[in-house]
Amino acid sequence: MAEIKGRCLCGNVEYSAEGEPAMQAFCHCTDCQRSTGSVGSILVGVPKPAFQVSGDSLSSFETVGEDRGTPAQRSFCSNCGSPIMTTLPEMPDLVFIKAGTLDDTSWLSPQIEVWGDSAQPWMAPAEGATRVDRGPG
Ligand SMILES: [Zn+2]
Ligand SMILES: [Zn+2]
Repeated sequence: MAEIKGRCLCGNVEYSAEGEPAMQAFCHCTDCQRSTGSVGSILVGVPKPAFQVSGDSLSSFETVGEDRGTPAQRSFCSNCGSPIMTTLPEMPDLVFIKAGTLDDTSWLSPQIEVWGDSAQPWMAPAEGATRVDRGPG
């Protein structure tokens, strides 16, 4: 994968990242559930220097995760509300893209599910994935 690209629902915010992602994960944390209105976030961690984002409607909101107990900077499009990415002070070299916003999601295959204790009880782990009780996101 030479470059990954994505955008928010309205298209005002676009991003790209060069090179191979450092990690993929699915996050079940309650903050991801609340901010997406769904079962959680697909996260793709990319090195911060490789990540570029543009758009005048990019906003961010800092939360102290109910599960994690430490701050997370959650960035989203203030025009359409799409979550775009999260950064964590304890992992300053990575940007965690909310991978449902990728233009091409065909290569996604998260092998780890984090904050599994908060998972919706009817949602079984994906085949081949390991569910753990802590992690980024
Ligand atoms: Zn938007
Ligand atoms: Zn999360």
